[in-house]
Amino acid sequence: MSVTSREIHLVSRPEGMPGPHHFALAEKELPAPGDEQVLVRNLFMSVDPYMRGRMMDRKSYVPPFKLGEAMDGGAVGEVVASMDARYQPGDLVRHMKGWREYALVHSKELTVLPPDTGVPVQSFLGVLGMTGLTAYVGLLRIGELKEGDTVFVSAAAGAVGSVACQIAKAKNCTVVGSAGSDEKCAWLKKDAGIDAAINYKTCGKLNAAVAAACPQGIDVYFENVGGDHLEAAIENMRPFGRIALCGMISQYNATEPAPGPKNLILAVGKQLKLQGFIVSSHTDMAHAFQHDMVGWIRAGQMRWQETVLEGIEQAPQAFINLFAGENLGKMLVKLAAS
Ligand code: NDP
Repeated sequence: MSVTSREIHLVSRPEGMPGPHHFALAEKELPAPGDEQVLVRNLFMSVDPYMRGRMMDRKSYVPPFKLGEAMDGGAVGEVVASMDARYQPGDLVRHMKGWREYALVHSKELTVLPPDTGVPVQSFLGVLGMTGLTAYVGLLRIGELKEGDTVFVSAAAGAVGSVACQIAKAKNCTVVGSAGSDEKCAWLKKDAGIDAAINYKTCGKLNAAVAAACPQGIDVYFENVGGDHLEAAIENMRPFGRIALCGMISQYNATEPAPGPKNLILAVGKQLKLQGFIVSSHTDMAHAFQHDMVGWIRAGQMRWQETVLEGIEQAPQAFINLFAGENLGKMLVKLAAS
């Protein structure tokens, strides 16, 4: 069985903010699967800020996207043809060949999704996928979260941030989040159940807003944004606080290296720990994560939102929208009906 698939190519490397002209929609004929190959009809693809780094031609922990070829990233889909007896048509799988409607994948690059989980298939890209694991690793291993800690999370209404907030609440922490709109802040307080939410665009001095929301100081800062967020967190950290450096999205489109936090000296006297991490180095925690996350979901302690654009041609815009904060929760593109 061969199929015609549409896919998104990166056609030039953005300097600064990416635009639609950096991407192109292309058509490709896929042959029938060869030995140990599986043909997957993608249902949803994940859209992630880290992909911005892959648009630059530089050495990093993941290779850059090649110009004129299909981009890739997390996706879930349905097997339509298989040359590996372990995969049957109709099986739901996760893999890394997103940004296309159909994917020809080597069977060893597939994970079968558990049946009868009671959650929509796309949750395995979000709360039960890499997104959720990132929040789990960042808080529990890197942030060394303890019951009763005060936790500050930036980009708190985003995919990773919203899960981090709720894991911390499940661990009986006091949780303060920051986000870029009143609507996001309202969701954080009402649905995610956090203690205080700061609209960083309207709060005035972020330092002062964080100090007011965390009068006892911060034990764990879950860093997604960088810049003035990191400075405000450092300013308000308690002695021996931990900062989990997950991402710094405010700098991903910078055309010059951004200066470091000007108050970093405080990390000495406060004896802070700042540690970066990449989720793929912590897959040993995946089993414990799945177990805990399923428990939190069943106990009603985990809520999530998705922002879904429809159709492969919308994928570049979905990606661009991440930098305008147009997503509440996980940004996804729906590629086909299940
Ligand atoms: P999100 O769902 O959080 O989407 C990005 C959000 O960032 C936007 O919704 C927006 O929310 C906020 N944002 C965008 N630009 C700015 C800006 N200039 N200043 C402040 N906030 C901004 O994405 P993810 O949950 O997928 O990722 C969150 C972070 O985690 C990113 O930094 C990402 O790179 C990182 N990450 C790291 C991983 C790792 O292994 N270390 C793995 C996965 C993600 P708002 O409206 O609030 O501004």
